[in-house]
Amino acid sequence: MPMLRVSAVALAIAVCCFAVLPPALIERNDDNLSFDEASKIEILSFAKTILSEPFLTREYLAPKLDLKADQINLESVNKIRFRTLENLLINYKAAIGDQNGELPRSTPEAQLKRLTQNFAINNAKEKFYRAYFYEQLRLAALFPKISSEIDRFNDNEILGTEFNDRVFYLTYDDGPSDQNGSTDRLIKALNDRNINAIFFALGSAAQKRENDLADLYKDQCLASHGWTHISHAKSVKEALRSIEQSANLLNARAHNSYIAAFRPPYGRRLDNSDPFFRDKIKIVLWNIDSQDWQKTISVKAAADRVLTLMLVWRKGIVLFHDIYDKAEIALPLIYDRAKRWNISFANCRSII
Ligand SMILES: [Zn+2]
Repeated sequence: MPMLRVSAVALAIAVCCFAVLPPALIERNDDNLSFDEASKIEILSFAKTILSEPFLTREYLAPKLDLKADQINLESVNKIRFRTLENLLINYKAAIGDQNGELPRSTPEAQLKRLTQNFAINNAKEKFYRAYFYEQLRLAALFPKISSEIDRFNDNEILGTEFNDRVFYLTYDDGPSDQNGSTDRLIKALNDRNINAIFFALGSAAQKRENDLADLYKDQCLASHGWTHISHAKSVKEALRSIEQSANLLNARAHNSYIAAFRPPYGRRLDNSDPFFRDKIKIVLWNIDSQDWQKTISVKAAADRVLTLMLVWRKGIVLFHDIYDKAEIALPLIYDRAKRWNISFANCRSII
């Protein structure tokens, strides 16, 4: 395995994201299961884990989510729990090829209870899904006070869970790296495989590069991650300035690759219906987070997490960061496995 190289940009943004709970990780072994076969096992494992949790109260959740009880938005938690079970049931039906079958009248929870009754879950999966469930519930507990990728404010926002079955996009944040850095190597790896991704670049980092962005992103999509890596939830005026300034620079330097999309750093943005967002730019979040920015997570661990979440969600937006070399090294692990599953990544332009 090549040694990890850390670019100057990566050092400047030592910590990309917030994480308080230990991330959910699982080691995947090679198997010959089809996408649907493997997906069915993951869906039932996640559902069984959720259903084994007791009734969720603030007092029960507080120590598990590392929050104070009065910080927890229980309504949001219950909404996300319900939506997760609903999506798991829809995905289960897709996995067994029963998408058009009539839905029984019982709730998703009741149906999943019946489906998982005799399902034997393995310990590693249970551990993974419990940690993942708490990761999600923590985001839900803080929403909307602290906005994140856990939920949408309006229809101008894309999470990835809205897509059709088996539709996946690759996305990479926080670049570009310095010249001939990790971004350049990743794009070469993508081009070599004839696939494309959306790069959410920082205006300030793009400005530092020589005038080579049109060339660099030629067969890829380029969109805004703001001017600098800060929360865009503080003021509408500041957020608009940051988005416009970065979008203008990216559009001017790589016009043919530019798409009108914005990904807020940390997923933090305002709940606003400013016409700018409605008319000019789409907010693109994510639902399959590699957690590759965490130092303790190896390339294999990040790739295994992504593959597992691809099986659970069966659609969506995969998030990596192109300022680290992990993204490039993980690409063949994900691409080769997806190919064996007959999954190809969607063309980046089709996302908006
Ligand atoms: Zn970022």
